[in-house]
Amino acid sequence: MGNSNRPTWDEYFLKLAMLASERSTCPRMHCGCVFVKDRFVLATGYNGSLPGHPHCEDVGCLVVDNHCVRTNHAEINALTQAANHGVNIKGATAYITNMSCTTCAKALIAAGIIRVVVFSDFHDTLATQFYTGSGVEIVKLDMPDRMIKYDIEKYSSAKKTDKSK
Ligand SMILES: [Zn+2]
Ligand SMILES: [Zn+2]
Repeated sequence: MGNSNRPTWDEYFLKLAMLASERSTCPRMHCGCVFVKDRFVLATGYNGSLPGHPHCEDVGCLVVDNHCVRTNHAEINALTQAANHGVNIKGATAYITNMSCTTCAKALIAAGIIRVVVFSDFHDTLATQFYTGSGVEIVKLDMPDRMIKYDIEKYSSAKKTDKSK
């Protein structure tokens, strides 16, 4: 019997992007991004401050033209993680919680991303125009189920911790 709750591959990797976004440090926006090729996760990112720099959560946002510029966006942080580890993302799919801004779209296109899977819009940007004009396939899905179905009673060999002890 099939499990109707089983996510598709696209939903699965989008949920990983949602999980990455939990690490975001800017209260104005939480985004996550995962690069995947042949069902293999190449890099992950979320919007956050530069290494060693303070977080928006702690010192407030740094707003210029109504955008917080303190953080690198999720896509850029995934790109820099790939660069730091010498991972080629050419031909990969980018799973992103929110549609890119124009700058991130251009960076992903130049890095060779060929497909973008996303569930939420961002501000008005030229991202869709740049992606489409570069032959990048855009797939918009409904937001995947936000529950993680880790049914410890039914499927897991792990045992519940008895907190009474
Ligand atoms: Zn911020
Ligand atoms: Zn961006």
